[in-house]
Amino acid sequence: MPYYVTTPIYYVNAEPHLGHAYTTIAADVLARHMRQRGEEVFFLTGTDEHGEPVTLAAEKLGITPRELGDRNVVHFKELAARLHVTNDFFIRTTDPEHYAVVERVVQGVHDNGHVYEGTYEGWYCPLCADFKTDSELEEGNRCPIHKIVLEREKEDNWFFRLSAFQGPLERLYADRPDFVIPQNRYNEALSFIQQGLQDLSLSRPRLKWGVPVPWDRDQVIYVWIDALLNYYSALSYAREGEDLTDRFWPADVHLIGKDILKFHAVIWPALLMAAGIEVPRRVTIHGFLLLGEHKMSKSLGNVIDPIQVVDLYGSDALRFYVLREVRFGQDGEVSPEAFERRYTSELANEYGNLSSRTLAMIERYRGGVVPEADPPKELADEFDGLAEAVKTRLGEVDLTNALDEIWRRVKLLNRYVQDEQPWQLAKDEAQAERLDTVLYGLAEGLRVVSVLLQPFMPESAERLLAALGRDDLSLETARFGALPGGARCGKLGQLFPKVEAEAPAA
Ligand SMILES: [Zn+2]
Repeated sequence: MPYYVTTPIYYVNAEPHLGHAYTTIAADVLARHMRQRGEEVFFLTGTDEHGEPVTLAAEKLGITPRELGDRNVVHFKELAARLHVTNDFFIRTTDPEHYAVVERVVQGVHDNGHVYEGTYEGWYCPLCADFKTDSELEEGNRCPIHKIVLEREKEDNWFFRLSAFQGPLERLYADRPDFVIPQNRYNEALSFIQQGLQDLSLSRPRLKWGVPVPWDRDQVIYVWIDALLNYYSALSYAREGEDLTDRFWPADVHLIGKDILKFHAVIWPALLMAAGIEVPRRVTIHGFLLLGEHKMSKSLGNVIDPIQVVDLYGSDALRFYVLREVRFGQDGEVSPEAFERRYTSELANEYGNLSSRTLAMIERYRGGVVPEADPPKELADEFDGLAEAVKTRLGEVDLTNALDEIWRRVKLLNRYVQDEQPWQLAKDEAQAERLDTVLYGLAEGLRVVSVLLQPFMPESAERLLAALGRDDLSLETARFGALPGGARCGKLGQLFPKVEAEAPAA
């Protein structure tokens, strides 16, 4: 089955931060997991490069908006690479192929009778590149996101008849209760629709930086319309000489932050309906990672900068932490201190130490070969159904609970080694068979959790699997007892070494 997952395209004007890393990591976990299932995956990320903020920032620097995009896109590509993200394509809305698709689709919306000429008056936030309704404004006519005072603006432009899609959207929501998850975001989007939709201006007469309106080339298409269409346009040219649209559209999951819910859960499906294109299967909303009050950490200072974390601790540690610490879909607090705590207690101790101890015991007691034995029942029972549970959770984009299912087994293996004390068994020749069983159980348990952890922590999981002499990543093999003993183990080194670095002086 084809599986298509997207991140939002990131605004090229910003510096990449933890929030960008969070969404991209989550999408990568889904993409890697689906590949383990044997699905044909397409994973898209990229940058949104049009709009007023880019123009303004470029002007300040004395360069063109395109030059600014070229300069900043490098940071987003670097972040993806440093996080070991396996996107199949990186779209830029300045790609000429994207322009062509946007013009074609918007022309279709026009030809289908959903566009008219009108005058717009409203509160405009140049940083959102969006008009705000009266009810959205905060005290003092401020943007609810940027907190700046907004001016009332008036302009003649083209309108998209969004109001005509209230009924079709309500039917979509009624037919597909999982169109938007989690439930509270579904409710929020639906109630926004039910309150009555206002038509949306589709173009901007004052701006020059964007995709021209095909029938009125003095105007450019509103940056959000252009940006949303990236999910659709990319498929037409991501692979040279091939159009992937029929294979991968509609998208299975759009992953987004809660601040862009309205665009993805209301405007996007309406726009697609107006163009006669199928709507995506699901829009999944995650919460924000909040940096609360906390003490300075020794290694990271008082912020979590993704590149700095990756430099010091490796990308797996960051990938693990953001999905483990905060329930996916909800807001939650993160801090450098909590990061370090989890790094030490869970990654270095529970996973890293357990792995190196197990390999050391197999080396010392069994010459580096995993013993042949029947799977110990006490572990087999606990691992029963694990792969299916992880599959179900990830199918529901419930990343935190999927990870928790796996980590409960990591903890279980730690208890098992404490209970069984293989180093004591090794002293008694009469216990040789029991020792075989325990060592096989540990190696097999570590193998299964590592196959399942691979989407979350690809580097460490693959290193451990290689050291266990079993590098098959397919989900089929993620059953306890699926593979027999007999594998020759290799060297592992420390998966999560102690980090001594001091924070740079602030
Ligand atoms: Zn704003």
